[in-house]
Amino acid sequence: MTPPDDAPRFNSAAARDTEYALHPYTNHKAFRDSGPLIIQRGEGIRVFDDAGRDYIESVAGLWCASLGFANQRLADAAYAQMKKLPFYHAFGARSHDPLIDLSEMLIGRAPLSSGGKPFSKVFFANSGSEANDSAIKMIWFFNNAVGRPAKKKIIGRVRGYHGITVASGSVTGQPANHAMFDLPIAGFHHVSTPHHYGYAQPGESEEAFASRLAQELEDLILREGPDTVAAFFAEPVMGAGGVIIPPATYYEKVQAVLRKHDVLFVADEVICGFGRTGSYWGCQTFGIQPDILTCAKQLSAAFLPISAVMISDRLYQGIAEGSDKAGTWGHGFTYSGHPVPAAVAIETLKIYDEMEMPKLVAERGAYLQRAMRERFADHPLVGEVRGVGMIGAIQLSPDKASRATFDPARKLGARWQALGQEHGVMMRVLVNESAAISPPLIISEAEIDTMLERMMVALEVLRAEI
Ligand code: PMP
Repeated sequence: MTPPDDAPRFNSAAARDTEYALHPYTNHKAFRDSGPLIIQRGEGIRVFDDAGRDYIESVAGLWCASLGFANQRLADAAYAQMKKLPFYHAFGARSHDPLIDLSEMLIGRAPLSSGGKPFSKVFFANSGSEANDSAIKMIWFFNNAVGRPAKKKIIGRVRGYHGITVASGSVTGQPANHAMFDLPIAGFHHVSTPHHYGYAQPGESEEAFASRLAQELEDLILREGPDTVAAFFAEPVMGAGGVIIPPATYYEKVQAVLRKHDVLFVADEVICGFGRTGSYWGCQTFGIQPDILTCAKQLSAAFLPISAVMISDRLYQGIAEGSDKAGTWGHGFTYSGHPVPAAVAIETLKIYDEMEMPKLVAERGAYLQRAMRERFADHPLVGEVRGVGMIGAIQLSPDKASRATFDPARKLGARWQALGQEHGVMMRVLVNESAAISPPLIISEAEIDTMLERMMVALEVLRAEI
């Protein structure tokens, strides 16, 4: 008998994956030879592959699995909501309890917005990219509504990461997200990465470096014309761009420039939100009062996709005014505020409250920061160890004194990452051979030690190889 047309033609899961799946963020030619690593289950801070091998997740998946890879309460919350109301939308003034409760909880936990005022409203989307795209469209709509249609340009930072949709990908400042995608689109600009170790001039203090960067931002705004520049985007700690902790006084100086030219500040808290830096928000760790705050990932502990955009009252008033003029506010996703991820997010926020998550991260994060430095700072291949709270990076260098970076063509970061995988730690080595460390927030001190030990074993193998 001949098999039906849709019968699987390949027996192993890996062969079927290679045959049918187009993976995100993958070199598709190299993938044909390597095939996938198939992860089958999770438990605590570990995931297990199809051969039963365990890996400690040093980056919480993609900076998101804050409560690890198993949690009965979150599974129950999703199941209960699915049985009660599996879907309803929020278009045209419809609502439901999970959307209402989560909105109230987020506003109640939000940091101060610009001028020290509370945030006003929450809009929901499904991903960090969609949240940032929505923020850009809100800003454009707002400036049209308040009668300044020329004020539309958006400023991001080189190596900043805000997503991959057409607008959010344009604010992102990473070459791989632009090359061959015809991005950024017109009207998007980028200022320098605030990495003192990497870019300060010899002898330049953190404060002087911060002043230089604030001046660069102001020069760009003046060159483009303040009447044409709408907003500045920043992650409090730049994540995917290498875990960049801003130099002292940076945000103070940047905010002064933005206020002077009435340019809105969008804080992208997609990684930093919900305790990661040792405060509830990265904005609180770094003294930022933004006009808009976007968040995702740890909002639902990554159990289901959901993201949010919080806006100040000033933004809300303009958007309300404009939607009256336009007839309606023509923006929203089918799944904006979907009841099931919203129910999971509500349960997640309750767990964070019960665990006193920012306090826990501040304490255990201090242990992580110490342990990282003790083990790695003097290693002959390490240039800088940096971090705050439960986020950090270990950056390799062939020469500590000159702070040189390895030739990217040698692909040492990718090699370290592969060796980590062989030794039971799932790593993410970013630009300039910087290994990110952003484990589940529930990691214990003993688990921090095991994670760092495995990374060190991999680094020692790499040292022997080169
Ligand atoms: N902003 C930041 C700071 C991020 O780190 C990410 C994802 N890593 C995004 C936005 C985009 O989120 P998503 O992948 O959910 O679209």
